[in-house]
Amino acid sequence: MEIQAAVCREKDGAFTLESVELSEPQADELVVKIVACGMCHTDLAVRDQHIPLPLPAVLGHEGAGIVAKVGSGVTQFKVGDHVVLSYGSCGKCNNCLAGRPAYCAQFLPFNVGTRRPDGSCTHQQHGAAMTGAFFYQSSFATYALTHVRNAVKVADDLPLEVLAPLGCGIQTGAGAVFNCLRPQAGSSIAIFGAGAVGLSAVMAAVVAGCTTIVAVDVQESRLALAKELGATHIVNARSTESVAAVRAASGGGVDSAVEATGVPAVMTQAFDALNGTGTLVVLGVAPAGATVSIDCSSLLGGKKMRGAIEGESVPEVFIPQLIALWKAGRFPFDRLTKFYDLAQINEAAHDSERGLTIKPVLRMPA
Ligand SMILES: [Zn+2]
Ligand SMILES: [Zn+2]
Repeated sequence: MEIQAAVCREKDGAFTLESVELSEPQADELVVKIVACGMCHTDLAVRDQHIPLPLPAVLGHEGAGIVAKVGSGVTQFKVGDHVVLSYGSCGKCNNCLAGRPAYCAQFLPFNVGTRRPDGSCTHQQHGAAMTGAFFYQSSFATYALTHVRNAVKVADDLPLEVLAPLGCGIQTGAGAVFNCLRPQAGSSIAIFGAGAVGLSAVMAAVVAGCTTIVAVDVQESRLALAKELGATHIVNARSTESVAAVRAASGGGVDSAVEATGVPAVMTQAFDALNGTGTLVVLGVAPAGATVSIDCSSLLGGKKMRGAIEGESVPEVFIPQLIALWKAGRFPFDRLTKFYDLAQINEAAHDSERGLTIKPVLRMPA
């Protein structure tokens, strides 16, 4: 079927709205009429070729919309269902079977393979294959082809444009707290980087009952929002030595920390800000080959540093939990978003890169 998509044609170039041919769904796939799609740094990393997928490409991996077609083998969804889309996973490897699909052995082919895992293409123009199936959805478009495992059914009366970013950025930050760190009520936490991921971690830390929540960033407007969302202390790392400030705020070091900048030097600072037995979860994507320097002797005291992807979320379980918290007024992630029409995608990218908008959400034309 013919769809309209924001096409990324050249490195660092602008997205252009173009007609694209979308393949018909295979047995276990859905076509979703996209209502809205969040923009995540990974999309821009492909545009700028830090993640060098072939161009032209249809990106977008925080889609939400309404099921328009179902494959012949689909039983759990029907046309008209409202869905939030998340990342892809095979469902068959040991990690998927153990309930850890974020560590799917087939994560790369299911998310950045540019085609379906079976090698067939999903998006074409004039008979030529393009990079599609981005996170098995490519949702910067009026319609997306996705796998049933990517889709999470949500209630019809919820605003899909609000829910869209849950599928990647929001669950990454919240999941670091709820799924990885599981902090004790009354404990302390520091969050380095107050973008969409870091601020989601701040909100989750509030829900988890952390009583010292230190947000570290270099932009005052983000720090002000972190405070409104529940950070008890804010640290501007441009003007303040962040490790000392976090240690002072927490009486000698935090119980847990989240790193959401992708800057190796900040990962070191986050590790140094822990108390003797604290745990750091690294979420930021550093440049390929980057290394982190840590004081080895501190590991012997029980300090821990680990990474996580997608907040170790099982989307079908976790996204409804985040929606329930949002409905209860306890996880106001909608305060991070600003809406743009799909035609304004380049403005959305510009605003995101300059920190003017924390989480752009693109609304598709009707
Ligand atoms: Zn798997
Ligand atoms: Zn993402």
